Amino acid sequence: MKILDGKKTSNQIKEEIKAEVSAMKARGERVPHLAAVLVGNDGASLTYVGSKVRSCEYVGFDSTLIRLEEDITEQALLEKIEALNADSSLDGYIVQLPLPKHIDEEKILLAIDPKKDVDGFHPANFGRMALELDAFIPATPFGIMQLLERYEVPTSGKHCVVVGRSHIVGRPISILMSQKGPAGNATVTVAHSRTENLAALTRQADIVVMALGIPEYLTADMVKEGAAIIDVGITRVPDENHPKGYVIKGDVAYEEVAQKSSFITPVPGGVGPMTIAMLLKNTLLARQWNQA
Ligand code: NDP
Repeated sequence: MKILDGKKTSNQIKEEIKAEVSAMKARGERVPHLAAVLVGNDGASLTYVGSKVRSCEYVGFDSTLIRLEEDITEQALLEKIEALNADSSLDGYIVQLPLPKHIDEEKILLAIDPKKDVDGFHPANFGRMALELDAFIPATPFGIMQLLERYEVPTSGKHCVVVGRSHIVGRPISILMSQKGPAGNATVTVAHSRTENLAALTRQADIVVMALGIPEYLTADMVKEGAAIIDVGITRVPDENHPKGYVIKGDVAYEEVAQKSSFITPVPGGVGPMTIAMLLKNTLLARQWNQA
């Protein structure tokens, strides 16, 4: 059994990006510039955005954090988005979700210029991805594809069962793994809450991607010997014995499933750490594509 180490792999990707940025500087080129828009004071969002900005600094990108008041109107936020779209010094930007309830998230995401949409949430990027054109791929599925590729997990001709069909994880990873190319060419089945007899499906799978958000849902009796297991789930489970009062659990009963698997991602330390690295990668791509 091999552990797909997301921490190590994401650090490698950051080093590769850092080297690329140094080379850009040496050629006298402008370095990539990412902005993050944060509305309000949500603690978790502040932490996420903070680590994204720090990662930008680490690899040598320019970064700008734009903090807006919780009570900003939808119209004022849309105007801010327009200004960011027009700002030629900016290669890409993200709007940290969730937004306050009085703002229509979909309206905001649709207003982002797809060429600067480094989160890859705009339908134009989703469509381009599905058509195998250059596109910003959402960070989580992009990170999974990198783990599969770099650890040479066999996917071609293999049966992959993806559990979950969300727009940011399940659906895009099912599309990517069925496409031609590295970490692709799999025969993909997408399962969801209406799927009947899920265990019968996962038991047939060479690769199982769990993205549903129910802790330790996939147990050893649900997988075949030698399967590769990707665990996307992140759930805080209350735990009095832990100083934080909770532990992070994935969708896989790790200890028992690991014993039967050929490859497995731990939680934490698997898919999670890959997401910021892939956001940086998308920003670098934005810089390169917008230059071309
Ligand atoms: P969503 O809640 O948007 O989607 C969950 C999916 O799981 C839905 O398609 C749902 O089906 C399906 N589902 C729910 N219950 C069952 C069940 N009993 N059997 C089969 N399918 C079921 O979640 P996300 O995709 O946003 O996230 C999934 C998990 O991944 C969460 O734990 C989240 O925290 C984590 N996550 C981790 C990231 C990372 O960086 N590692 C990034 C993003 C998410 P239906 O469509 O029918 O409702």
